[in-house]
Amino acid sequence: MSHEAATPAAGPRKTVIRNIGLVLSGALENPILDADTIAAVDGRITQIGRARDIDAEGATVIIDAKGCALAPGLIDSHVHPVAGDWTPRQNQLGWIDSNLNGGITTMISAGEVHTPGRPRDVIGLKALAISAQRQFANFRPSGVKVHAGAPCIEPEMTEQDFKDLAEAGVKLLGEVGLGGVKDGPTARRMVAWARKYGIQSTIHTGGPSIPGSGLIDKDVVLEADTDVVGHINGGHTALPDTQIRCICEGCKRGLEIVHNGNERAALYALRAATEMKQLERVILGTDAPAGSGVQPLGILRMISMLSALGDLPAEQAICLATGNTARMRKLDCGLIETGRAADFVLMDTAQHSAGETLLDSIRLGDLPGIGMVIIDGLVRCQRSRNTPPAKRIPTIEKA
Ligand SMILES: [Zn+2]
Repeated sequence: MSHEAATPAAGPRKTVIRNIGLVLSGALENPILDADTIAAVDGRITQIGRARDIDAEGATVIIDAKGCALAPGLIDSHVHPVAGDWTPRQNQLGWIDSNLNGGITTMISAGEVHTPGRPRDVIGLKALAISAQRQFANFRPSGVKVHAGAPCIEPEMTEQDFKDLAEAGVKLLGEVGLGGVKDGPTARRMVAWARKYGIQSTIHTGGPSIPGSGLIDKDVVLEADTDVVGHINGGHTALPDTQIRCICEGCKRGLEIVHNGNERAALYALRAATEMKQLERVILGTDAPAGSGVQPLGILRMISMLSALGDLPAEQAICLATGNTARMRKLDCGLIETGRAADFVLMDTAQHSAGETLLDSIRLGDLPGIGMVIIDGLVRCQRSRNTPPAKRIPTIEKA
């Protein structure tokens, strides 16, 4: 496990990845690109195309993908980080590094709610949020980008508090409902204040997750009007199907499906979004760490489950954990486009999968084998220690 600072090494560097067998773009409208080579300079994608069209001159890092597929690094839209790569929820070290081995390059905090002694007074919760934002901006566990600093709102907060938080660099709210605000009108007022100052919001949907938390039903979810409907499939306890349907149809906001939720409700929500032709609203998270633990392969498992059981083409399922999330969360990663962050996961069919190709294997419910994960153009892990072994593995030709 390597722990490195956020600041990249000095000097220009050029990464070229060639012999890519399949480029998955992360964009629902065009999920497969006609390309076999990608170049990136100083961590940004500069060229995508066929080998003959790519300027590989001066490459400082050359990767031979050996025919593996390349997708944007996966984004977990719902995590609860606390301190670096430690989580007190399961008293586990290295959980973020384990997720890197599951293809995760970006995580978004839905609140640092597992912080021992978490302050609930207004000055204290603001201080915790600002501190968490700074800690994870300064420190990337194993290179993973963790967007943290997500305060849970309390009834005593005023508009000025949201202004203060935004000015201090806070860009997210923790799940509405995990703090003292559990009613629709108060949540709506505060979510609007947050939005006014550029802070994105999410809400806990469904029954209580652990003893002490509460029910948030469809009326509160729709009234609060957060940017993302957090775990629409419950965390774990899901709302009745009729309420899930009401939420999908009653707003235009993001619909987040999590690993640590109700899987039947996940499929129901996916079906509702598909029927509405609004698949671009669906994003994936794990909600880890949680009572269900840490799932280093949680996002991959969601992709395979939704594809296999939800009748979703595998190349589209990957978009729910990459381009959809990046667009909704206004991130600079998640899509294979020039100018975007050079965050990639290289994978292939797992050994002995019944699937002929990577996409077939996902459609059959198998997990891909990860051979390499790249963040900002730097190789962060090679053959995953967590996924089933891939048939083919990329090699580093020059580093
Ligand atoms: Zn929750």
